[in-house]
Amino acid sequence: MDETFDYISENLKKIVFNIEEAKAKYRSSNDAVEIMAVTKTVPYEAVNYAVECGIRLLGENRVQEYLSKKDFYNPKAQVHFIGHLQSNKIKYIIDSVDMIQSVDSFKLAKEIDRLAKNKNLKMDVLIEVNIGDEPSKSGIASTEAENLICQISQLENLKVKGLMAIPPVGGGEKYFEKMHELFIDIKGKNIDNIDMSILSMGMSSDYELAVKHGSNLVRIGTKLFGVRK
Ligand SMILES: *Cc1c(COP(=O)(O)O)cnc(C)c1O
Repeated sequence: MDETFDYISENLKKIVFNIEEAKAKYRSSNDAVEIMAVTKTVPYEAVNYAVECGIRLLGENRVQEYLSKKDFYNPKAQVHFIGHLQSNKIKYIIDSVDMIQSVDSFKLAKEIDRLAKNKNLKMDVLIEVNIGDEPSKSGIASTEAENLICQISQLENLKVKGLMAIPPVGGGEKYFEKMHELFIDIKGKNIDNIDMSILSMGMSSDYELAVKHGSNLVRIGTKLFGVRK
């Protein structure tokens, strides 16, 4: 292993430690929290080092950047698309990502379904919720989330696996609490063809809080790879 990337393994150890600490302090069960490495602007060599350190999940924001790096990635890791996705770009990623976490409209879901059917595959998705109702952010309003999920449950080549959110920066705990409530609430409805198992929330500045409130997938860029250039 290349020692120029030693800081990545040190960073990962700290993140794992902090997650375990938050779980011990705030959670009654020892359910796993998965760490996603968010790769935007990070060279593939550094990404692969993180995979060597045990990371099994990569998060991609930008279609072009992903396409330029994907052939170099260690195939041991799964890739989730987590950025805003335009319908006309789905075709570039549909057969090389394992999940799309940023589905926030029926229009987008239908197009993913159509292309997945063409490729004879079933795409796992998360529903992105704009939990802070911020006009600048993508995501469905929390009040519309259940409705959207019911609609999507009719699509055959798409499988909803849970929820994703990017709560307001510095918004404190209440948005994580709200997301957790929404997640539990929708899960409790046992909607056909819907598997509410993943709650994807928490980034470098707030992952401990997210873990406190039930996140089981944190998406970390800066605290793993350093400040983006
Ligand atoms: C960039 C990004 C992250 C990670 O952000 P950091 O603050 O660098 O950890 C997580 N999720 C999404 C959707 C992102 O775009």
